[in-house]
Amino acid sequence: MATTFELAGSKWYVNYVVHMEDFGKCDPEKQIISIRMDMNKQTTEQTFYHELVHAIMFTMGKLNHDEEFVDTFGAFLHQYHVTKESHEI
Ligand SMILES: [Zn+2]
Repeated sequence: MATTFELAGSKWYVNYVVHMEDFGKCDPEKQIISIRMDMNKQTTEQTFYHELVHAIMFTMGKLNHDEEFVDTFGAFLHQYHVTKESHEI
């Protein structure tokens, strides 16, 4: 799982948190994604991609997020990640 990544030249941090009510959280001011720790791999990854979509949309300057859009887009990003096959270019 990612611990840091960059969007538009800004660094984001991914924290895995022990006691958290929600599955995940996206803080656009601190540029921190928090992920609840006690979840299985599938849910952890899906939550990360969900929060990543929030992070991208904040970076795009969009402040109002449609949760259904975010969830579906995140699920497809996750599916891409899981099913992709690669070769050297
Ligand atoms: Zn959300």
